[in-house]
Amino acid sequence: MHSVQEAEEIIFNLIEPFNHQTDTETVDLLNANGRILAAPIISQLDFPHWDNSAMDGFALRYCDLSEYVEGKGIFLEIVEEIPAGYQPQSTIQSGQAARIFTGAVMPSGADTVVMQENTRREGNRVFITAKPKPEEFVRKRASYYQAGEELLSAGIILKPTEIAVLAAAQCTQVEVFRRPRVAILSTGNELITPEQILKPGQIVDSNQYALSALIKEMGAEPLILGIIPDEATVLKKAISHAIANADIVISSGGVSVGEYDYVEKIIKSLGGKIHVSSIAVKPGKPLTVAKFSHFSNHILNCMYFGLPGNPVSALVTFWRFVQPGIKKLSGIKDNWQPEFLQVITSQDLRSNGKRETYLWGELILKDEIYQFQLAGGSHSSGNLINITGINALACLPVGKSLISAGEKVKVLQIS
Ligand code: AMP
Ligand code: MG
Repeated sequence: MHSVQEAEEIIFNLIEPFNHQTDTETVDLLNANGRILAAPIISQLDFPHWDNSAMDGFALRYCDLSEYVEGKGIFLEIVEEIPAGYQPQSTIQSGQAARIFTGAVMPSGADTVVMQENTRREGNRVFITAKPKPEEFVRKRASYYQAGEELLSAGIILKPTEIAVLAAAQCTQVEVFRRPRVAILSTGNELITPEQILKPGQIVDSNQYALSALIKEMGAEPLILGIIPDEATVLKKAISHAIANADIVISSGGVSVGEYDYVEKIIKSLGGKIHVSSIAVKPGKPLTVAKFSHFSNHILNCMYFGLPGNPVSALVTFWRFVQPGIKKLSGIKDNWQPEFLQVITSQDLRSNGKRETYLWGELILKDEIYQFQLAGGSHSSGNLINITGINALACLPVGKSLISAGEKVKVLQIS
């Protein structure tokens, strides 16, 4: 049995991120939100593209104000009006100024803008009533970004702010990593679909639905393979199909030590290498992780996660080990690892101290400080009723059997 730290090191080291050449596709900018940039963006445009005014006011030569006396002011002649989007025609000479508006291009010769509020216009002359600072209210060309430098780096997630920058840089087609393909299958003779009539002893397959929603939420593509009975030949066929058609396979059930738990044997018989078969974690001890590097004469790079069948165990192991693995595979450069926060718990948190224990609940804001509120009801791995509304897992390390209300606890935020 591996500790959580050992298991996560093994698992995350096994995952090779997508290839920058072969695992990419091009998308329109309007469809790029949430996608991961596969190649750096280098723009040939400077930002700002040209010196421009940050204010409505008058563009002038700072040196013309050397005669300026406080309380007396100074007159300049207005030689041009420059609205935004217009190319200035004149060069500002000594004693001259141009009427200018926010965002408009600075005329040559001028180096400073005096804001409108510090001026008074009299016909074709402007009276300056307060002296600006040198180069005030001029946004200098390339002061934000210089053409040819890296504008956005590969491996970032494109969000609305990056989309705005790409649009400004006139990148309307973006090279992103393809979406990971994730096969999902549920194993168990007792399972039925939500549409079937429930007979005594049967269980509705909720894992397939939860996992498929999680995969879609991550921007990956689920390949839903349905319920597979605990029969070695049928299961072997289903797993063969899954590994041949997906980057990641997630099964649930069939990884414990019972007579009907075939998953590990089948993985081995298909040439998969088991790297983890149990972890000192609660819930989720039987999590099984394998890698397929080849299958029927083909080179593969397929990770297999055999999650425990209990709905909460399946979810906890997904959040803790599978989700970061999929993020790493998908090409995200930074922050694909699970991120923990330190918060105060509002209830006592208990475990038997033998395995790293995860308790589910809610991060709530109280007096502007986040607190962890334990979900009410049974914290049994088979109880999926009290997992509704949760957004966090509190982590009790091995050896810690109690974290008292008011103390700090490490919490994993979940979607
Ligand atoms: P197993 O890991 O196959 O021993 O299953 C453990 C428990 O989880 C059993 O009570 C199963 O009936 C239940 N279970 C297994 N798979 C699912 C599933 N897909 N959806 C809901 N419950 C499941
Ligand atoms: Mg089972």
